[in-house]
Amino acid sequence: MVDLLTKSKIYLSPPHLSGREQQYITEAFETNWIAPLGPNVDAFEKEIALKVGVKDAVAVSSGTAAIHLALSLLGVTRGDKVFCSTLTFVASANPILYQGADPVFIDSERETWNMSPKALKRAFQESVHEGNLPKAVIVVNLYGQSSKMDELIALCNQYGVPVIEDAAESLGTTYKGKPSGTFGKFGIYSFNGNKIITTSGGGMLVSNDMEAINQARFLASQARDPAPHYQHSVIGFNYRMSNLLAGVGRTQLQVLENRVAARRSIFDIYHYALKELAGFHFMPELQDTKSNRWLTTLTIDENVAGVTVSQLLEELNKANIEARHVWKPLHLQPLFKGARYYAHGKNDHVAEMLFHKGICLPSGSNLSGGELKRIITCIRETVTNSIRNRSYLISGKHEV
Ligand SMILES: *Cc1c(COP(=O)(O)O)cnc(C)c1O
Repeated sequence: MVDLLTKSKIYLSPPHLSGREQQYITEAFETNWIAPLGPNVDAFEKEIALKVGVKDAVAVSSGTAAIHLALSLLGVTRGDKVFCSTLTFVASANPILYQGADPVFIDSERETWNMSPKALKRAFQESVHEGNLPKAVIVVNLYGQSSKMDELIALCNQYGVPVIEDAAESLGTTYKGKPSGTFGKFGIYSFNGNKIITTSGGGMLVSNDMEAINQARFLASQARDPAPHYQHSVIGFNYRMSNLLAGVGRTQLQVLENRVAARRSIFDIYHYALKELAGFHFMPELQDTKSNRWLTTLTIDENVAGVTVSQLLEELNKANIEARHVWKPLHLQPLFKGARYYAHGKNDHVAEMLFHKGICLPSGSNLSGGELKRIITCIRETVTNSIRNRSYLISGKHEV
């Protein structure tokens, strides 16, 4: 075991460059297009729009900025209510607070780990009863898995509330053949360093409403009115992507399918190697969808498996392998203390269960076969040792 400690660190989801990014950067330097905006930005926006089949896209400095712009465009303001998936990264909901609005968190369901249509329906019904519908619904697609978009969109349409699809983790995923991120009024992608493709940091807001995307472009570049001098009538932001980073994004986009294939095959290898371990349940894949399997995630039923998530994380960490808990639900975060939350069912809190039992394994598309073997061996050994220790405890042999 000691030699494992000296082995190089395996990260959860490190950047994976194609080797051709430098070309675009060099070109940008040579033509002095170092500023935000420029030909790479325009091209990157067109290429993303074409790839996912939407009318328009605007490249921004982060996925978080894209969500913030979407909320601004929908007129979300102080005192408004916004529904949001509870099982997600804090970035999905922070922009609600930027606007001074109140998040209401919606639980997950078991088939996708994403927003529960049942919980959403109850949230809508109560809102109608109280005469206070939300201004928007933020639906998050976790770990590459699409939410049940048909059911969720139908409910939102029924109540006339627009959807922002947080597809930060699901670029390259399809739902019934249609790209993830294209179902709501707005979709957002992230190109943070850990995402399936990266610009080191960046994001994209997409929509079929070209007017809205134009308005987003305006807001993202300080909301400068058309005038010969600097004139401003509304609050703007400095959210545009730089031309240098857009060059990196264009190259990365060319290898998206390849990255999806690599992550899916990593999932398959883990699944094949670990599926017979009692109490290990891999994240399912919804029927008629194809997940990009951004991260391989599973739940561990400790009573059956004989090992806890914390134990496994500790052993992986000792072996210099980065693994993580599943997102802590936002309704449990101190930041959102007091926010309302709708569970999947009475006494059925799915996101909380997933948080307690869930684990994310290293899933970078550049993970080597040797590294995968190291991770799988560590997991198997931890389970075997833990079961052995437990049976010693039960039989009292540990006292010998
Ligand atoms: C990464 C991520 C974001 C935010 O994207 P940034 O580009 O890091 O701002 C938002 N939502 C989810 C679900 C994410 O995983």
